[in-house]
Amino acid sequence: MAKRVLVVEDNELNLKLFCDLLRAHGFTTEPVKDGRDAVAAARAFEPDLAIMDIQLPHVSGYELIQQMKLDADLRSIPIMAVTAYAGHEDEERIRGAGANAYVSKPISLARFMEEVRALLPAEAEVPGIEPGTEEAPQP
Ligand code: MN
Repeated sequence: MAKRVLVVEDNELNLKLFCDLLRAHGFTTEPVKDGRDAVAAARAFEPDLAIMDIQLPHVSGYELIQQMKLDADLRSIPIMAVTAYAGHEDEERIRGAGANAYVSKPISLARFMEEVRALLPAEAEVPGIEPGTEEAPQP
């Protein structure tokens, strides 16, 4: 069963990049361009992981993380914050709001996938391939 990833990002190029990358690794993605739709989308999509841009118009990713972590139905969803690095204090503040991981822009795709894997451990990424299968075909 493919893991489901909600991607909240207002920049269309980044949104497409993240979703394409995740899909290439076997994940099912739900793109959300407008942060105001993020909480409703999380409820409807029931993701295994949420990727959250912090700099969003209308509502900040920081507020969305707080909202999700205060919501009994959504608080168990791990959240990976993606943001322009603004210092250690900013990272601490975002982690303090409940983000489980923090990845700074510009994004290293390898690090991005590393963090995704760390938040979704011990599951096959590619549908139909069991964990530990040797010589699994690579997508
Ligand atoms: Mn943004």
